[in-house]
Amino acid sequence: MPAAMATVPTTAALILAAGRGVRAGGDLAKQYRRLAGKPLLRWSAEALLRHPAVHKVHVVAAAGDRELAAAALAGLDVSIGVGGASRQQSVRLGLRQLEAHAPDRVLVHDAARPLLPAAMIDRVLGALDEAPGACPALAVVDSLRRGGGYGGEYIEGEVPREGLWRAQTPQGFDYALLCAAHEAHHEAHHEAHARVAEGATDDAELFRAAGHAVRIVAGDERAMKVTNPGDFDLVARFLPWANVSGLGFDVHRFGDGGHVWLCGVAIPHARGLVGHSDADVGLHALTDAILGALGAGDIGQHFPPADPRWKDASSDRFLAHAAQLVEEAGGRILHCDVTLICEAPRIGPHRAAMLARLGDILGRHAPRLNLKATTTEGLGFAGRREGIAAQALATLRLPDWSAL
Ligand code: MG
Repeated sequence: MPAAMATVPTTAALILAAGRGVRAGGDLAKQYRRLAGKPLLRWSAEALLRHPAVHKVHVVAAAGDRELAAAALAGLDVSIGVGGASRQQSVRLGLRQLEAHAPDRVLVHDAARPLLPAAMIDRVLGALDEAPGACPALAVVDSLRRGGGYGGEYIEGEVPREGLWRAQTPQGFDYALLCAAHEAHHEAHHEAHARVAEGATDDAELFRAAGHAVRIVAGDERAMKVTNPGDFDLVARFLPWANVSGLGFDVHRFGDGGHVWLCGVAIPHARGLVGHSDADVGLHALTDAILGALGAGDIGQHFPPADPRWKDASSDRFLAHAAQLVEEAGGRILHCDVTLICEAPRIGPHRAAMLARLGDILGRHAPRLNLKATTTEGLGFAGRREGIAAQALATLRLPDWSAL
């Protein structure tokens, strides 16, 4: 084919999530447990979806875990199939489930490796230009000892580490060749009735045993496999974080009534504030500040004023929703600062109650909170006592994908 006609190869990613992961502890298989608020499986699915060279992401889950997988991947453009009893069977079934997409290449990834640096995916795909298989790996640097004797707790000898690598995923392959290798391997073992004793441990080894070259490319320590209970804390240390701030501003006019809602507290006043909801400017400004830091639009997009559900709604639910979105993004709220702008009512006597209420609404997200009040020296609409304004600043700590 002339070079001008060459097309960019299509790449599918197959994520293996059919294991039970009992060593990591807990009742839930580890791929569904949360790392910084997000199921382990979702982290790598998002990383693969984000990569511009990956055209399709498919997940194989255990037959009984389909709903768990669907919940963990909610909202993502990912298909879910059922895996098999062993890792190899899951790969073989997953490859078949990708048949209709006929990708040129496939990346096989382990759901227990949540952090997937984009540069590592680049290296695996780059190596596939030169070999039909590619495996990211880290050179063994610790000296190796063979244990034995009583309970295997005594050193019996040394194992040379030269030429030894720790294999990681995603491993990349020519799709058709990997399919053929898995089918042939399955056929051979099926005929020998040796289903349980399938020899190869991963795809790179099975592919190599089938006679294909597998290139080693540099792996990444951050792509560690979560195996033991302590690994959740360890992998969390590799998460890149960024502190992000957002601003909020809101105004509501005075109308009839005998109280105003401010920061979730009803304050007796000669007039009320007019709005579709309870017109709590403090909570609205703070909700917008958090949404702003998240890059999640504004309060009107999440709770449209035209929607009758939010008529006279208590605004604490708006703020709680914003806090929930922060958790779903794997982040947390570090700090909130609210300024109420009015001549009346006086805020000072209610400040402590408002701060306590904000803490209640934000619950376990409760960050450092500050509440201020000011007048406008009689100037402008606030000075003419036509309404109340509020400003808010929120600072969040969020996973920073650009740094991974
Ligand atoms: Mg408002």
